[in-house]
Parts: sequence; C-alpha cells; structure tokens
Amino acid sequence: MIYSNKVINLNSGPAALPQEVLQQASEAVLDYNGTGVSILSIPHRGKDFNAILEESKQLVRELCGLNDDYEILWMHGGGRLQFAMIPMNFLGEEQTAGYIDSGNWSADAIRHAEYYGNVQVLSSSKEDNYQHLPVWPHDIPPNLAYLHMTTNNTIYGTQWPEVPAVSMPLVADMSSDIFSRQVDYTNCAMFYAVAQKNIGPAGATLVAMRKDMLRRISRSLPPMLNYAEHVAKKSVLNTPPVFSIYVSLLTLRWIKEKGIDKIEEENKIKAALLYDEIERNPLFSTPVKKEDRSMMNVCFRAVDERTEQLFLDFCEASGIVNIKGHRTVGGFRASLYNAITIEDVKYVVAVMLEFELNKK
Ligand code: PMP
Repeated sequence: MIYSNKVINLNSGPAALPQEVLQQASEAVLDYNGTGVSILSIPHRGKDFNAILEESKQLVRELCGLNDDYEILWMHGGGRLQFAMIPMNFLGEEQTAGYIDSGNWSADAIRHAEYYGNVQVLSSSKEDNYQHLPVWPHDIPPNLAYLHMTTNNTIYGTQWPEVPAVSMPLVADMSSDIFSRQVDYTNCAMFYAVAQKNIGPAGATLVAMRKDMLRRISRSLPPMLNYAEHVAKKSVLNTPPVFSIYVSLLTLRWIKEKGIDKIEEENKIKAALLYDEIERNPLFSTPVKKEDRSMMNVCFRAVDERTEQLFLDFCEASGIVNIKGHRTVGGFRASLYNAITIEDVKYVVAVMLEFELNKK
C-alpha cells in the first residue's frame, strides 16, 4: 500500500485551498495583522476591512483584465441567489433571455429565470444526461435581454473551450473554473462565481458587471436584490461575509503570485495525467467526450459497478477523500481545482494503478 503524508481532498466545493492560504487565514483568526483583534471580529465598515475589499477588487480586475468599466462585487447567497437576481434585474416581463442548458446548474438558472420573463433554451444536452456539451447555437436571436452560459459543468465534468464574443450581453456562471485558465473575461457583460471552489470558503460570491448593465434594471426591487444598490454601497449594503472575503483575498494574492498562465499550464498537466490513467486502466472509464472534458472536475466510473465501493474505500484508506461522484450521476469525480498540485494527481494515479494490481 502506498501512502501520502497528507490527505488529498478532491471535493467539488467547498474545496481544498492552498496550504499557504490556510496558514495565513488561521493566523488572522487569532490576530489580524498585529491588531490584537481576530479577523472574525473586525468592523465591516472600518479601514482594515475597507482595505481588504479594495485590494480584492483590484486583484480581480487585474487577473481578469478588466478596466474601470466593470464593477466588482462580493455578495451573499451563493450561485442560486445569482440565478434569481440576474432575471430579476435584467429580464423584463415582456423580454426574452437565452440560456444554454449544459447541466444541472444551467437548468436551475433557467428555472429561476422563468419566474420573471420569457426564457428561450437555445441549446441543451439534457436528453443525453449532459454527458457532452450541447452544440453552440448558430442563430442566436439578436434581441435577447441577455444570454446565460455555465462555463464549466461541475456535476458532469464538461467545460466550454472558451467564453465567446456575442452581440447581446453575455452572463456567465464561472463558479467552477474561474481563474483556472486564460479566457477573455471582457466578452462577458457579467460573470459570477461562488467562492467555495477556486476562490475561498463558502459564504461569498464574486460578481463582475459592466457598468452599462446597471442602466438595464427596470423592475422596482428591494435593495438587497438590486445590483445597483450593492454597487452604490460598495459591497457593504449589509454585513458582508468578512472572513470569506478575507480568505478569498489571500487566494487572489496566491493566484497573482503564481500567475494564471502557470496555473493553466499545471491544470492541463493535472487533467491529462488523470484522463490518461482512466483510459489506460481497464477498471475505469469516462462517459465524457474527449473534446468536452473539464480540466476542473474529472468524472469517471468503475467499468464493473461492483468495484465502485471497493475503490472508494481504497481511496479513503490511501488518504484520498471526497472522490465520490455527485449523487445524481454516481461514479467518481476528482475535482482538480487550482490548489490541487501535480504531485497530488500523480499520487491519485498511483493509487488507481495499485488498485488495479490488487484486483489481479
Ligand atoms: N453554479 C455552479 C457551476 C456550481 O457548481 C454550483 C454549486 N456547486 C452552483 C452554481 C450553486 O452554488 P450554491 O450552492 O452556492 O448556490
């Protein structure tokens, strides 16, 4: 049996964070920056938190190549609140929004939008249980209020190769692949990502929005549900998730220091190592088409279903945890977000090989 000196957590979110970030975060819990006060207890309208907010927003701008045309917000409520707020703010009752249905989270976004206006599903791979990406629609009606896409489908392990330029405002859910590769973020009028995968702990959601979008809000909305109010109050309309935003800042610094180019290069290597082993090892297979495969969530199965639980137990005994697939699809899912190292993936591959040898 081979051993790892650490536990490798492949959870899809809340996900593993870089060790340096955890170290700094834990120190700040005891004493934030030598102030004698815990990060958990600093005033959310004070100068320390204001500096955290400003630096984090500046880093998001820098990492995504955004200029001052974009507002950066930290919000509560996870991905689902964005599913509701997007149509609430940008879809009038008589208007139509286009959605690409590439997985469960896209479908959930669609269900939320249907409360507010007309929804046109432009393309869907639901019939095939989302095992591949739907075709990108050819004739997108030009008068859509916006077009919504999910860049990476966390549950099914598919990922769009790029974020395309379209003529209407593009709104992208980038929850499970933000900061994992170079994409043209300026093709989006708005993008959002829950923190709990590539950014930080659950509790904060990052939203970037082109300023002209704020002029499209036509409904009368209570302040907490109105993007313009959040922008006006600079993400402190109410008490924000201070700790989650602080840890997100630590991760953003880590991403900047490493560089997105380097992160992308490593993510490609990590994904290739694991997909190659899935293809080589006769005990495993993946239903996901090669060209649609995600670098972030690698979904695969046991060829013989009876070995599924055995492999899960073997992983656990080898120090690999949370590799079980989403409950709606079964099998395995290895989430290889930025904090997972090439060494970690090599270890997972070695464990798969050892499992195969033990079965002989
Ligand atoms: N979008 C994507 C792509 C996700 O993977 C998830 C959840 N993992 C969500 C949205 C929903 O996020 P939340 O649970 O914070 O509402």
